[in-house]
This record gives sequence, C-alpha cells and structure tokens, in this order.
Amino acid sequence: MPEGPEIRRAADSLEAAIQGEPLTDVWFAFPQLKSFESQLIGKRITRLETRGKALLTHFSNQLTLYSHNQLYGVWRIVDAGDTPQTTRVLRVRLQTANKAILLYSASDIEMLTPEQLAVHPFLLRVGPDVLDMSLTVEQVKARLLSPKFRHRQFGGLLLDQAFLAGLGNYLRVEILWQAELTPQHKASQLSEGRLDVLAHAMLDIPRLSYQTRGKVDDNKHHGALFRFRVFHRDGERCERCGGVIEKTIVSSRPFYWCPECQK
Ligand SMILES: [Zn+2]
Repeated sequence: MPEGPEIRRAADSLEAAIQGEPLTDVWFAFPQLKSFESQLIGKRITRLETRGKALLTHFSNQLTLYSHNQLYGVWRIVDAGDTPQTTRVLRVRLQTANKAILLYSASDIEMLTPEQLAVHPFLLRVGPDVLDMSLTVEQVKARLLSPKFRHRQFGGLLLDQAFLAGLGNYLRVEILWQAELTPQHKASQLSEGRLDVLAHAMLDIPRLSYQTRGKVDDNKHHGALFRFRVFHRDGERCERCGGVIEKTIVSSRPFYWCPECQK
C-alpha cells in the first residue's frame, strides 16, 4: 500500500514526463468524459497535485481531472504512441509529442470545474497533505489540539486521512517511535514540549522519506537519509535505548515499537 511519499514521487515522475507540453491525444474510457477529449487537445498539464491517495491533474483550461486509485488503479508512463501489453483495463490516456501517461483499472475518475473542485466530497473530507510544503508545524499542532482530534488515540488517528493525508502504516510507526509515544496516547494528554516533538515528526519523517528513501549513502549525500528505526525490526535492539522492538496489531494493522522508550 503506497503512502504519501511514494504517491508524491509517482506524481513527480508523471509530471516530468508530460508537464507543460501541449496535449496531442486525449482518450477517456468513460462515456461521461468523452466530451472533454477534444477540449483538451492543445492544452497543457500545469500541475499534478496529490491529496492523500487522490491525484488532481490540473489542465491549462482550468479543468481538473480527479482520480482515486483505490486498491487497483495504476499510472504508467510510455513513449508517445506506445501501448503496453497488459491485461489491465485502460481508463485514461494523456499524450504529448514525446510521452503519454496512462491510467489503468481506476474507476473513480471525474472531470471538475474549479467550482466543483472546491466542493468535492472526498477532497472536503481529507485533511491537509503532509507533503504539501506549505503545511507548517504550527498548523499540525493546532489540528492535533482541535476538538475533533484531541481525544483520539494516535494509533487510529495517524491512519485517518481526515486528520492528515499522506500518512500510512510505516509512517505511523516511525513517527510514534521518533516522538517516544505509544499508540494509546492522545494529544489532550501531552505537554507542550511533547506535542511539539510529535508535530515536527509528523512533517519531518514523511518529507525525509519523500526526499531520500531508497537512496544509498555514497558520501555524496549530505544530511540524513530516511531509514526504518522500528518498522519490520521486531526482535532487534532499539538504537535509542537498547530495548527489544516488539510487534503487535493496532487498528487492524501491524505495529512496531520499543516498550522501553515509548511510554
Ligand atoms: Zn527504545
């Protein structure tokens, strides 16, 4: 299950392939989208915005393609004119002179005007995305302390896209280890200092993962690289305190933690 950093990097790849270039071919599988095909020829993709697992493809004529991949949807990048051999069902093709991006299998696809975008039910429900670089620690703290979220246990809260979009299971585990908290803690119980550490971790860890996960430390990279401290490390020693990392289940998902220093 991809989390925010992986989704954002996939969007970066799509952007790199076709952003800013005039569209030369546009094709939609769904009948209700057919009328947009000719409208989009010659227009450009200005930006690909991620909101949790939703992708917003913004066009230069102010229209936005909303797509949510659910469990099955997948984007592919190909050379213009190429059609990959696959058993997946093609739903969207957006092509420029050089490249095309193809969306397979997704069923949740809509074209929205700016007015429709502003009132879209999923987008109204989903919280701010941790990889939106304009989101600040102060805003995360305010959200943690808001009446809606202050009494929620972190184990469930950190998986709830209505709280913050882009967090998933490995980020939940690593954030709570970094902040030395348990999944049972709630914002309403925390001192100002602990809340501050948590809010920083909620932004720093996903952003470090986005920037460096999978990169090899070849001494050319200055600064920290993302790596797992507890995720999939049950039975190993905690690097902070030497305690033994344990695995359990929290909110129906595997949870890894150090009982010695997370309390
Ligand atoms: Zn520890």
